[in-house]
Amino acid sequence: MTTYDLVVADATLRGREGRWRVGVDGSRIGAVTTEPISGREEVDAAGALVTESFVNGHLHLDKVHTLDRVGDAALTAYTAGDMASALTSIELASAVKADYDRTWIEPNARRAIVEAVRHGVRHVLAFADVDTSARLEGVIPVLALREEFRGVVDLQVVAFPQDGLLRDPGAEQLVREAVDLGADVVGGIPWIEHTDAEAREHVRRMCSLAAAHGRRVAMLVDDAGDASLRTTEMLATAMLEHGLVGRGVANHARAIGLYARPSLERVAGLARRAGLGFVSDPHTGSLHLPVRELTAMGIPVALGQDDIEDAYYPFGRHSMLEVAFLAAHALGAFDQPGLDLVYDAVTTTAADVLGVRGHRLEPGGNADLVVHHHPTLREVLAHHVAPAHVIASGTVVASSSSTTTFRETPPQP
Ligand SMILES: [Zn+2]
Repeated sequence: MTTYDLVVADATLRGREGRWRVGVDGSRIGAVTTEPISGREEVDAAGALVTESFVNGHLHLDKVHTLDRVGDAALTAYTAGDMASALTSIELASAVKADYDRTWIEPNARRAIVEAVRHGVRHVLAFADVDTSARLEGVIPVLALREEFRGVVDLQVVAFPQDGLLRDPGAEQLVREAVDLGADVVGGIPWIEHTDAEAREHVRRMCSLAAAHGRRVAMLVDDAGDASLRTTEMLATAMLEHGLVGRGVANHARAIGLYARPSLERVAGLARRAGLGFVSDPHTGSLHLPVRELTAMGIPVALGQDDIEDAYYPFGRHSMLEVAFLAAHALGAFDQPGLDLVYDAVTTTAADVLGVRGHRLEPGGNADLVVHHHPTLREVLAHHVAPAHVIASGTVVASSSSTTTFRETPPQP
């Protein structure tokens, strides 16, 4: 009988009948089998669902837990009506950066990453504002946390010019400095520039920087209720022009939800050519990307937490199960294909969008797993509680349980 470093026993797997054992060697999956195998350490799944761990396609990590600092005026503007005032909200939200300081940003970001460990989030596309008000105060602590948590929660750090490039002279130089400091991804937010020509120039400069340094790109595109916005198209076009095929992510892209069908099909066709993946966050706005339609067109769409208690969203626990649960409501994804879609969008599809290789529960795949409390996807989503066990790089890094004791008789007055 083969002995593994770790065996997850009595597991229910998605789309497979029966009970399974998953054997882990080092940080890889060595076997997925119904045969007896032994492990130096064993985790009993007790018949519950075991899947790949979670991937968060989009998080503003330097801004988590700042809502009390900035107040909710930006929140009102961002979510009002059909998101026509999103630009105003960004200007209001930038007030938080008046006293941006790594000494208070670091513990907030750390808190969000510890919650990621609890909830089985293994990879995060982590945006840090890099602009003339934030300077490098947000990205520096996030880069340090990336090193500290590597192998448990991997952060892809995005140097993100939140206030634009041409609107914010000096931001471009700071993004270059952040890349020199080791930021993994070049960010962008072209839709907030004042003209289409400036938006196109914004995308060109950031894609050129990414190509020159072997980095990926991730941009917030078309994030307002305005069907005339076309910066997703600009991003895909620039990826084709700069040799970045398959190395870009479009975040938000809410305006696409207002496109007529022919425009939707055109942008989907272009995205396919450019290998552009999408991340949607339907819980943080009143308008969202048409996730089900794009998925049906063969475009990979991930879900993101987006915000945790900041100027744009008052909740968030860094639970991608909670995000998938909320998305199921926003997208009307309640049947089994719908549940599979939202769960893939926080696990396997999300890994594909972020360019993470080997994120599959199969022999040779990464030993990054979550062991749930319930056997079916429907129950797991319904309860959306922290997994019973979280395995990262082949090691159990967190275990959670909850207990309620009912009184036998009602309390007496
Ligand atoms: Zn966002």
